[in-house]
Amino acid sequence: MTNNQTIIKVIDLVKKYDKLTALDHFSLTVKQGEVLGLLGPNGSGKSTSINCILSLLTYDQGEIQLFGEKMAPDKTELKRRIGVVPQDVAVFEELTVYENIDYFCGLYISNKDRRKTCVAEAIRIVQLEEFLNFYPKKLSGGLKRRLNIACGIAHEPELIFFDEPTVAVDPQSRNNILESIQELNRKGATIVYTSHYMEEIEQICSEIIIMDKGSILASGTKEDLKRMIQTSEKLQIELPLCPSDLLTTIKNWTGVLHADYDGTTLRLDTLKEEKVLLKLLHHLESKDLLFGDFYSLQPTLNDVFLEITGKQLRD
Ligand code: ADP
Ligand code: MG
Repeated sequence: MTNNQTIIKVIDLVKKYDKLTALDHFSLTVKQGEVLGLLGPNGSGKSTSINCILSLLTYDQGEIQLFGEKMAPDKTELKRRIGVVPQDVAVFEELTVYENIDYFCGLYISNKDRRKTCVAEAIRIVQLEEFLNFYPKKLSGGLKRRLNIACGIAHEPELIFFDEPTVAVDPQSRNNILESIQELNRKGATIVYTSHYMEEIEQICSEIIIMDKGSILASGTKEDLKRMIQTSEKLQIELPLCPSDLLTTIKNWTGVLHADYDGTTLRLDTLKEEKVLLKLLHHLESKDLLFGDFYSLQPTLNDVFLEITGKQLRD
């Protein structure tokens, strides 16, 4: 549930590392209850923006407010309301799973009973019950990530930052992580989530910012973003044989933005109003060309990224 309270306000943030401008007049607003996704390729400035917002990095220009207050390194009361799950796992190797979570929770919650309840709840959310006495080096990459999350959320923060929490984890842990984030959001937390995996962003984020080279390229809900681009329908049709002039003919039809054939499947990006699929089926029939299954697909965030930047997000 969102209401109108502004939780994060970033205005015109500029961050330079020597000559490299990592954030170039970056602004955003996050409202209570949102799951904001920062989507961008490696090096686009996602971690830098989070670390500036948290006052872990200094910046050259701009203004940052959290819960309506100016953020600064010494704002302990603000930090208590915030959870951070950093990109690189940061836990103590000499403490067990339980001791790690208890330690991080203890930084903000001194009451023993309350702390016990909070630690147990964090363990439940990331499903680490079977590993409480393990040391981190005994955990798989995915379980370590889940421990990293438990350490960041155990003090029940109202605002939580997740910086690429699913990189290089197994599918089971990945699902657990995404579900944990959605559960935390349902329980009331506002979330900032960074990733270069557009499927994840599409799955869990209510608001999305697409960024590259320190600048915001586009923002909105996934529906807003898809409306911004020309492609509105993607067609796929199984075609065992594709005469060379067929592709040329199709490419010249109005409403066809792109067409290619890979030896088995014909793929078209089209404008929806143009009813290209119907035309294509009639055309194939009139030429006595055999075809198999056909699909109409909605564009993905990758199509949005591709159309805005001219390159694939995975590059
Ligand atoms: P992302 O999190 O989206 O992968 P980063 O915020 O880590 O991107 O990096 C943004 C840009 O700043 C990149 O070009 C990166 O190489 C550069 N950068 C990040 N940290 C430093 C640093 N400590 N010193 C110099 N350059 C850095
Ligand atoms: Mg990063």
